[in-house]
Parts: sequence; structure tokens; C-alpha cells
Amino acid sequence: MTRLPDPSQKIADESEEERVSRLLTGLSAMAILFLFGIGAKAWFATHVTHAAVLWFFAVLMALNMLLFARNGNRRQQKVGMIAIVGLLFGYLIVTGGESNTGPLWLYVFPPLLFYLTDLKTGTAVLLFCYLLAVVVFQFPELPLVTAEYTTDFKIRFFATLTFESIFCFVLEASRLKARNELMNLARAHEHAARTDELTGLSNRRDMQHRLGAEFSRYQRSGHHFSIALIDLDLFKHINDEYGHDAGDHVLRRFAALMQGVIRQTDVAARWGGEEFLILLPDTSLLQALTLAERLRAEVANTEFTFGGERLPITISAGICSIAKAGSVNELLKQADIHLYSAKEDGRNRIAPRVRTTSTEGGLPGARA
Ligand code: GH3
Ligand code: MG
Ligand code: MG
Repeated sequence: MTRLPDPSQKIADESEEERVSRLLTGLSAMAILFLFGIGAKAWFATHVTHAAVLWFFAVLMALNMLLFARNGNRRQQKVGMIAIVGLLFGYLIVTGGESNTGPLWLYVFPPLLFYLTDLKTGTAVLLFCYLLAVVVFQFPELPLVTAEYTTDFKIRFFATLTFESIFCFVLEASRLKARNELMNLARAHEHAARTDELTGLSNRRDMQHRLGAEFSRYQRSGHHFSIALIDLDLFKHINDEYGHDAGDHVLRRFAALMQGVIRQTDVAARWGGEEFLILLPDTSLLQALTLAERLRAEVANTEFTFGGERLPITISAGICSIAKAGSVNELLKQADIHLYSAKEDGRNRIAPRVRTTSTEGGLPGARA
């Protein structure tokens, strides 16, 4: 039986990506304003180079936003933002920014990194920043390094940043764990809502949804489909004679047998009680009748046993093609009428009957 692709995961991932993207756009706008403001302050304090570099980073961020506005590529927006912010922090550590306070901006990085990337990437980027800070702090004579920090500042900076990073890591890890648990729970509920507990087949609700979807496909692109409404014969007698557990066992076995007979693209559902419905996409009436006949013969030739006793199990089915009905309701009604006539004609048979001389050709192996 083909399963519909699980939409819940995709929807959740998309909405999270969208949230992250919106946050990034807001943060970028704020950062641009900030960089222009601090750059202006540096300009008036005659720190012209510092001002120019800050404005350069503001322009880079604006370009990243523009690029995202044009192509809508969220991953590019994220990677672009992390790269720009990483470079900016590198610059602030190396030069010390205004009054050697540049490294303080690094505190912004751990929560942002862990939120934007996964824990592994976040940790790797952070470790790289640590390494850069260690090199700059240890070797102030290196080219480009213009800042000198006191020992007290270095120790406190590393200690506080390490604490912050660990807290951010733990918080993000527990957020992800809670999110995954919630997602799994939602998926399990979703699955339960469309699955029959006894047989593991689709339930009526799921089948109704699939029938609607298949009918829309038929209306859009003219793809024909058929259904087979199957009912176990004299099932009340099985329950009465052999017990309810035997009845349940038969329902499960029949469901498994049916799954083995239908194609990958067909969908079998428990329609209710001892009634089943198979949706057969891209299948004509004749093909559907052939498949139903094969299933009928298979059931009739299979030994159903329970508690060492052999159970007499046969099925009857009513088939209908969408070519013979104008709506899903009509299709179901027609299949039900045919099922009724199969029962009337003595059970263990498929309806409608098809004569071998019919224009559609014969029904190989059909006994009806
Ligand atoms: P027919 O050939 O005309 O369909 O006769 P039938 O006895 O199968 O039809 P009827 O509708 O009278 O009986 C259906 C029986 O299926 C009655 C009900 O107890 C049984 N049934 C429905 N759901 C279940 C189930 O989940 N487990 C079991 N064991 N029996 C069920
Ligand atoms: Mg029955
Ligand atoms: Mg019935």
C-alpha cells in the first residue's frame, strides 16, 4: 500500500525556516542601523578607518538582505549573515574596536549561532572564534593585530564566554530535544488518525481523503480510477461460531493477504466492520474486475485457521469505475449496489458481471 508522504515534518521544517528567516531579516536591519550609528560615532571621534570598516560591514549586510529579497534562498541568507558577523567579530577582536571593547560583541555570537545552525556547526564556528581570540591575545605583535588586552580582561573574557557558550549549547540542545519529541508525538497522532488499529490499513477517514484527491486528479488530468468495495461473507457466523477473536484474526489475515495481491500504487482501507475498500488509480473497470477476481480466488483458496479450526472465508465485491459515476458519492453508491447484487447472487463473487463477448473483452478467470 502506498502511503501519502508525511506532510507534518515538511510543514514544521518550513515554518521553522520561515521563522528563522524573518528573525534574520529583523536582526540584519537592526545590525545595519547599529553599525551606521557606531560608525558615525567613530567618524566624529576621528577614527576614520574604524568608521569606514563598520560602514563596510553595514553595506555587506544590506547586500545580503538584498540578495535574499531577490532569490529568497534562506540558506544563503543564513550562511551570508554568519560569515559577515564572523568576519566583523574577527575584526573587532583583532583591532579591539572602540577603547578595546570590541571582543565584548562576541557574546552575541553563541545564542545566534546555535539558533541559526545545528549544534555541531555552532560549536565548530565558536571554537574557531576562540582560537582566533587566543592567537590575538597571545601574539599582539602579529600583523593586523592592533589591540592589546590586559591579563585580567583576557581571563574574564574567556571564562564568561565559555559559561555563556555552554549555557547556550545546553539550552539549544534541550529545545531541539523537546521539539523532536513534540514532532514525533504529532506524527504518531497523525498516523493513528488515518490508520485502522486492527489491520494497520488506512481507515475510512484517510480513504475518503484519498478518494477526494484522486477524483480531483481525474477532473484535472482525466486519469481514470476504480474502486472495489469488498465485504467478508457471512462474517457474523464466524464470530458466532468461532468467537470474536477468531473474527479479528480473520480481518487481520485478510488485510495482509489483500496487501499482497494489490499493486504498490493501489490503496486498501478498512471501510468499516468487515468491509474493505481498494482504490485503484489509473485502472479501468475491466482491470479492476480482474484484480478483484484474483483476490476473491486467492481468499477462497487460502486456508484461514484459528485455534486449530478451519474457518470458511470468502468475499464478495462490488466494483465501479469513475467513468460510470459523476462523483465520489455516486461511485461509492454504484459499488455498493454491485456488492449487494453479488451477495444476492449467492456470495463469493464479484459484480458487475462481465461477459467475455463484451466490447471491453473478457475477464480472465472470473467466475461471475
Ligand atoms: P453478509 O455475507 O451478508 O455480509 O453477512 P455478514 O454476516 O458478513 O453481515 P453482517 O453485516 O450481518 O455481519 C457483519 C459482522 O461483522 C457483524 C459484526 O459483529 C462483525 N464485525 C464487524 N466488525 C468487527 C470486528 O472488528 N471484529 C470482529 N470480530 N467482528 C466484526
Ligand atoms: Mg459481510
Ligand atoms: Mg458488511
